[in-house]
Amino acid sequence: LAKKSGGNRVCHYTKALRKSNETRRRMLSDLRGALLKKQIKVQYQPIVEIATGKIFKAEALMRWQHPEFGVVEPKRFIPLAEESGLIHELGDWIFQEATREVARWRELFDPKFQVSVNVSPVQFRQNGKSHEPLWIRHLRREDLSGRSLIVEITEGVLVKAEMSVKENLLLLRKAGIQVALDDFGTGYSSLAYLKTFDIDYLKIDQSFVRNMGADTDDQALCEGIIVMAHKLGLKVIAEGGETEKQLSILESFGCDYAQGWLYSKAVTAENLEIILQKQADAALPVSGRALTP
Ligand code: C2E
Ligand code: MG
Ligand code: MG
Ligand code: MG
Repeated sequence: LAKKSGGNRVCHYTKALRKSNETRRRMLSDLRGALLKKQIKVQYQPIVEIATGKIFKAEALMRWQHPEFGVVEPKRFIPLAEESGLIHELGDWIFQEATREVARWRELFDPKFQVSVNVSPVQFRQNGKSHEPLWIRHLRREDLSGRSLIVEITEGVLVKAEMSVKENLLLLRKAGIQVALDDFGTGYSSLAYLKTFDIDYLKIDQSFVRNMGADTDDQALCEGIIVMAHKLGLKVIAEGGETEKQLSILESFGCDYAQGWLYSKAVTAENLEIILQKQADAALPVSGRALTP
């Protein structure tokens, strides 16, 4: 009996594996055509200055609207894009989109508005080839200063910081583009990175923010990160604030910015524009924390 059920288990396992391999292959081949078919979209999540409640920035987040599977999470397709090299095409596309939108929002609402774009380690390691020319060309096309953009990198970019990575970061900064270290606190969180690389923002990972008010360790770490970052001259953005309580603790720690569902989820460019327009009309932060379009 044991042998029989063991055999079944192996069979189930193989079937499941084959199925997941098939899905993977299917996703990958669909992803290749997704940009052309206009299935890839970008949404923007407001980044709010905690002290004033004003939206100063927005993070561009990629979405894949699959005709059969529905919305595919970036956590599922970004790794596929990275393995296959498609990330270069996708990354360039979102950069171009973000550049176009931020130009518009700076003109309409706030000359200092910034859009933050995630850049994968793979994009930085492109055979030591510099990324500057393409990105700078997009900026020039919109007649934009580099200061309109923030590039979000993870520690993954810095871990094996080869010359090409350092050079690419330097080129970005020379063009005026700011750099944010994303998901801070989840990886090695080596403090040496903060000393070695010129970084403008630390983004505290949402796993810390989530437990604020409940887990005193996470709260202490959050406070420590904020104090340290400020001493180093960095601004802090907290990710994933969902409750009023989390936000008021972050505020009491002097955290500069927050993005989270309490304010707003990622929304389409049109909806972000409606929110920004409302904010401009009121000339005041929207009452309460929620920013509804
Ligand atoms: P990330 O850069 O750390 O982005 C923040 C993620 O947290 C987003 O997930 C956002 O929707 C989510 N989030 C924000 N506030 C809250 C909240 O209050 N509660 C909860 N539960 N979640 C919140 P999303 O859009 O699914 O993106 C996941 C990750 O995929 C991103 O993490 C980023 O690493 C990657 N990604 C997304 N777009 C791109 C892209 O254009 N290029 C690259 N290379 N990676 C991307
Ligand atoms: Mg990010
Ligand atoms: Mg993050
Ligand atoms: Mg610095």
